[in-house]
Amino acid sequence: MQIHNLGFPRIGAKRELKFSLEKYWRGDISQSEFLAQSRNRRHSNWKIQHDAGIDLLSVGDFAHYDHVLNTTLLLGLIPDRFTSHKHDDNNLLDLEFRAARGQAATGCQYAASDMTKWFNTNYHYIVPELSSTLVNSQSDVNVDALLAQFSDAQQVSDNRKIVLVGPITYLYLSVVKQEEKLFLLPTLLKRYQEVLTKLALTGVEWLQLDEPALGLELDNEWQQAFSQTYSTLDKGSLKLLLTTYFASIDHHVDLIKDLPFDGVHIDTIAEKTNLNTIIKRLPESWIISLGVVNGRNVWKTDLVSVYQKVLPLYRQLGERLWLAPSCSLLHSPVDLEQEQKLDEEFKSWLAFAKQKCQELALLKRAIISENSDEITLYSSRALARCVSKRIHNEAVKSRVKQLTVEDFQRAQPFAERKIIQQSSLNLPLLPTTTIGSFPQTSDIRETRAKWRKQEISDAEYTALIQAEIKETIERQEAIGLDVLVHGEAERNDMVEYFGELLEGVTFTQFAWVQSYGSRCVKPPIIFGDISRKKQMTVEWINYAQSLTDKPVKAMLTGPVTILAWSFVRDDLSREKVTKQIALAISDEVKDLIAKGTKIIQIDEPAIREGMPIKHSQWQHYLSWATASFCLSAAKAPSNTQIHTHMCYSEFNEILLAIIALDADVLTVETSRSNMALLDAFEQRAYPNDLGPGVYDIHSPNVPSVEWMVNLLEKAQRYIPQERLWVNPDCGLKTRSWDETKLALENMVLAAKQLRASSR
Ligand code: GLN
Ligand code: ZN
Repeated sequence: MQIHNLGFPRIGAKRELKFSLEKYWRGDISQSEFLAQSRNRRHSNWKIQHDAGIDLLSVGDFAHYDHVLNTTLLLGLIPDRFTSHKHDDNNLLDLEFRAARGQAATGCQYAASDMTKWFNTNYHYIVPELSSTLVNSQSDVNVDALLAQFSDAQQVSDNRKIVLVGPITYLYLSVVKQEEKLFLLPTLLKRYQEVLTKLALTGVEWLQLDEPALGLELDNEWQQAFSQTYSTLDKGSLKLLLTTYFASIDHHVDLIKDLPFDGVHIDTIAEKTNLNTIIKRLPESWIISLGVVNGRNVWKTDLVSVYQKVLPLYRQLGERLWLAPSCSLLHSPVDLEQEQKLDEEFKSWLAFAKQKCQELALLKRAIISENSDEITLYSSRALARCVSKRIHNEAVKSRVKQLTVEDFQRAQPFAERKIIQQSSLNLPLLPTTTIGSFPQTSDIRETRAKWRKQEISDAEYTALIQAEIKETIERQEAIGLDVLVHGEAERNDMVEYFGELLEGVTFTQFAWVQSYGSRCVKPPIIFGDISRKKQMTVEWINYAQSLTDKPVKAMLTGPVTILAWSFVRDDLSREKVTKQIALAISDEVKDLIAKGTKIIQIDEPAIREGMPIKHSQWQHYLSWATASFCLSAAKAPSNTQIHTHMCYSEFNEILLAIIALDADVLTVETSRSNMALLDAFEQRAYPNDLGPGVYDIHSPNVPSVEWMVNLLEKAQRYIPQERLWVNPDCGLKTRSWDETKLALENMVLAAKQLRASSR
């Protein structure tokens, strides 16, 4: 029985890859130095896995930037637009970085590729831009780099497999201009075929083809495409491991069972799956690889319970059974051993990527010897978390239990609230505002860093942040905005800031996970019942409000977003955890209101990405997610205006849920799509106030007054002027003050111009 990984974190325990990348991009190291460092990185990643007891090593899971982009390079499908400047050195590495981020270490600037989230994770992949000209072009597939890695890995072990994104998932995730995606499939398959043939010739035995798209409820066309793909591809001497994760595939067993695979990987963690039934229906020659260790969480596995489930299968399948984590360990932090500040009890509950490999090795030994002694102690540590006093807070649990329908609803409907708010806030037509954050200057970052290291006192820190707030308020008044914000200078990150102020949430020193390219995040760990330690924002907001007669909008992060961007306990449903967070946020809402705050924004940029893989489960998720948001806001009396903010453009599919949030004002990203998002409102009018972003904060370009007037005029076709707000499409923390000032001045002028013309 082999144990293997679908993939391992690339970044390194100390984020070595991040630092190599950034040095190379800055020109601090040469290309050959960079390539040597990345080669070392791969080598140590294999070594860690091998030393932990992994039998079958994966090659091809590593990427400098992203594995989907690697597939694009491998297939020779980098769009021509990245090679248009003939004087740029078109070596593959720089081509890779140009496609990923618009720029390599040298050469011209290009518009970077689109990036989006990999299924329901927080990892972003580079969206393949396919077109018939490109797929039909004569460009070659590039297997050399992959094969060189395959041969490098032999220094660690002979037992290796190659990992690739499968053609159906690749095509499914691509953007295709004009033509239908499936129309491109036959030519795309020719490229996959070339790759497969070359791999087979080099003596690769196992090829892991990742097809997480199989977890979706594929329609008939895609199902046909799937079976056409795998009946067409000639695998030669290769053995194919069809690899699925993030969802069950019980619904697609008929689709796969007659295709020429040699094995399948099934995620047993993400959803309930009926293994016995599936296995009975699959060919007797297939390897059955079971994902039994959670690849997306940080908790130790209860190995005894896995043992009990797997042992009968081992007796039945013998060598046909392989074990692995549920999905690639890309989504786990690297190594728990580095953590020095966690107390021993807490640390004893955790397992990161390296420890997850060790878990598999322990499990394998137990199963082969049919002896669970060694894992009994381990499991008792894993289970200790669920009974520890530290995770339980009866008061919080009973608050959740006692919730009633009223706790989720504002006292009056929007139409009535609107009149009350209008008379108390007295805002002009087309009020102007921003999304919350203002430029985070290096001074601000330094202030926060010094305070964290206790180099400055609390009092000094407060004075410095207050000075920032004061300046931000003055600047907004000078620009002429109607609803002001305090600027979020005290926040490094919108989830981390609240996480640190909540009971039941903790932080590590090094549990970094790749988000995209060289960017890593260190998600909070939600381990227990959640409550507020103390007021979280009131003091800053009060101070900001004391400086101005204009209303200052308070800024909170919503419960669904806090959940989505954290590692979450698994002994309580996500729904219940979110309700607990919502109650903590609602406590803050209450305190803000008691101190006179009239406008509160509760940001929920992550509602959409938390959606389950299967469409049939969306409704259930959306109903508890929106309920949690409502719970955090419902206690606000009618004269308090609740805003929410989201930043994504595919809106149509969750429009009803967004309406159900019943926020008084919704600000959204729309400017990049030229207000195309508002098309959704053709079918169903948005009933409350709406602020469709009138400029893209991701671009340093200062938008002109005419441009924004034009967008607003477009918006007015969908939403009456009386319910329209004027704002940028996201927070301004990554921008500089110079461009922010000019852009917002133009935005205010645009609003004034429209007000004047509508008089
Ligand atoms: N209030 C946050 C900000 O302005 C919102 C960030 C977000 O939408 N991701 O930075
Ligand atoms: Zn945003």
